[in-house]
Amino acid sequence: MRPADHITDHFRLTEPHKEALKRLGLVTVQDLLFHFPSRYDMGGSSADIGNLVVGSEVTIVGTLQKLQTKKSWKRKIPVSEGVIQDASGKIKCMWFNQPYIAKMYAEGTTVRAVGKVTGSAGKLYLANPRLEKITLAEMEANVSGGLFGQQQEQKASMENGLVESEGTTRGPFSEKVSDEHQLFAVYPESRGVTSLWFLHAVAKVLANGVLDQIHDPIPSELLKRYHLPTLTTALVWVHTPKTLKDAEAARKRFAFEEVFLIQLERGRDRAQQRHEKSFPIEVSASEVQAFMADFPFTATPAQMHAINAILKDMKSGTPMSRLLEGDVGSGKTAVAATAAFATVRTRPAGQKFGTLQVAYMAPTEILAKQHFESFIKYFEQFPINIGLITGSGCFKFPSKVKRGGATAISRTQLLKWVQNGEIPVVIGTHALIQKSVQFKHLALVVIDEQHRFGTNQRRMLARKEDKLPHLLSMTATPIPRTLALTIYGDLDLTLLDQMPPGRKPIITEIIKPESRFKAYNKIREELEAGRQAYIICPRIDEPDPDKAFALMAKSVTAEAKRLKKEVFSDFEIDILHSKMTPAKKDEVMKKFSEHKTDILVATSVVEVGVNVPNATLIMIEGAERFGLSQLHQLRGRVVRSNHQAYCFVCPESKGEQTMARLRALVTAKNGFELAEKDLMQRGPGELSGRKQWGISDIGMEALKNLKLVEAARTEALELIKQDETLARHPMLAEALVRRTKNLHFE
Ligand code: ADP
Ligand code: MG
Repeated sequence: MRPADHITDHFRLTEPHKEALKRLGLVTVQDLLFHFPSRYDMGGSSADIGNLVVGSEVTIVGTLQKLQTKKSWKRKIPVSEGVIQDASGKIKCMWFNQPYIAKMYAEGTTVRAVGKVTGSAGKLYLANPRLEKITLAEMEANVSGGLFGQQQEQKASMENGLVESEGTTRGPFSEKVSDEHQLFAVYPESRGVTSLWFLHAVAKVLANGVLDQIHDPIPSELLKRYHLPTLTTALVWVHTPKTLKDAEAARKRFAFEEVFLIQLERGRDRAQQRHEKSFPIEVSASEVQAFMADFPFTATPAQMHAINAILKDMKSGTPMSRLLEGDVGSGKTAVAATAAFATVRTRPAGQKFGTLQVAYMAPTEILAKQHFESFIKYFEQFPINIGLITGSGCFKFPSKVKRGGATAISRTQLLKWVQNGEIPVVIGTHALIQKSVQFKHLALVVIDEQHRFGTNQRRMLARKEDKLPHLLSMTATPIPRTLALTIYGDLDLTLLDQMPPGRKPIITEIIKPESRFKAYNKIREELEAGRQAYIICPRIDEPDPDKAFALMAKSVTAEAKRLKKEVFSDFEIDILHSKMTPAKKDEVMKKFSEHKTDILVATSVVEVGVNVPNATLIMIEGAERFGLSQLHQLRGRVVRSNHQAYCFVCPESKGEQTMARLRALVTAKNGFELAEKDLMQRGPGELSGRKQWGISDIGMEALKNLKLVEAARTEALELIKQDETLARHPMLAEALVRRTKNLHFE
């Protein structure tokens, strides 16, 4: 068997199997090896079959008999059945939807079975027990078998000497798991393929010499330095660990590898950027001051600090790559506007006319329009042409017909003016990076909440071989430091860690069910004083009655109806959620921002940067269903003005844990602190947006470990310093290519 062989070359697969593997992106034998378990189950205590008790997890050893496969008449799925017998008695076993079981074992095979005793006294059975063949010799020697006998075990044990996981020193022969507790890998199940199938398939792969043909891309000095197992050992341990420590050491290795590869890629990107040229942007300090003097406020020291860093970056002829991280409302737009100002005041080198250009990309149409309007205000005293380009239309400011306003223009006209340089600032959605958009002298790209915008995307946008635009990326997404270090490894970081003065801190209250009416009274009070409110629900529609879990969660549509009927019948209520068309969403937002609606009942779609200063109150239903950092972002919707803002957090349960977690919202100083809490308390799954970051579950686990992330980063940067193009590390270069390919596949 070879790593590159197709799975179908070695396994007889049913159609549902094939489809399931395809869905999971597993094609080759190697893919199978790199499909890792999501957790490990401990087998139960070993027991005599004659003494089994209902409900206990047990490991039994006996001979397997009477194997057969039937179709269950009720559920129309295949059921394999058999009986396992030892000296003390026998018990029936049943496997649902795993017809191959009956074909895999010969009558009379001695097996170890692990599972839960089900049924009732006199009619006990094991449901879906995990099975493994064991040899007689093994039984007599009383060695814990593992799926592939002695050989592999010894190999793993010898290499074990290298892996002293932190703090513990272990001899060449690692402790063996006693017979009582056998570890079993549990794989993420997918429709059509069970965890057990993976267990058996991987066992077959491991037993067929595939490991000897797989090469470790990580330099061995690194593995030694950090006491990490080699790839071969790690693969054995991740699938068939003898101890949880081994499994952890293996996972740590893969986590290191992943973070290391991401850092290498970012580091290489960064190093290559240093060879690139960009437009040097120079403006005098007095000009910048004059521009900022017209702001209706004084910039905070944090804003000044960010602006200075950006102006300094853009002065040099090498491209800026900077990330501006600041909580919602910290004033990132003013910083971006000042960077844009410096850019449009600069002439292309050697020219006495024209200006450099700015592209500003926002994640949604609503936001793009808001930035367009903000920019018009920021540039009031220095009138320049500003364009807006979205999927549903284009606008230009100033308008020839409407003084101080913008007019709708055709896309063709807008693109023409962008191409000949007459429109120096273009704001838009993703429509901005389509091929048809050509700039004359694109010098600065500002990106709002895009998470990643690589060198290639920048180059594409500029479409000029010789110049790379400066990049200012901005985010309010609170992410933990380890994640920032990883995914933004190629960017310089500036924090806006100060809120504009005069803002009253938001009042956050946890509302218990019995004080709900008080909260409604407070909302009514605010609405009567002319303010507006958001009410956030976890679901869009009526719950699916089949799903007990969903049954409890409030839905936008039902809650809006209920509120209109029972609580706020004298106010205008509207709804907003992700299944609406962009045009409909815009219409709803427009009505809300013009105060034609008082209450907006919505899902978490309002999370991303919507700005309605008159909305001062947000009530979040089913709050425990959201991550802390997401809740923080939601409440950021209402800290937009100098009115006192309120956030009412309404959990469905009163559990002490829920309460303790939500109380962090009341005390936390900023979103980043909450993101750290989310990561540590509930795990990386809580962090929203993980799909776009392209990090696997194992890699995300690593983010809890600052030391590991820093080590991977230091080593990657050091390696890039020595070997910028990875010419001397072909296996790493190849691993990077593979990574990128896989990401695109997903
Ligand atoms: P962010 O994009 O960081 O969430 P915005 O740029 O939208 O925040 O700014 C939020 C609000 O704060 C805007 O209404 C803006 O005019 C205002 N603002 C920005 N900087 C200051 C400041 N230094 N002092 C007072 N208000 C400010
Ligand atoms: Mg913003």
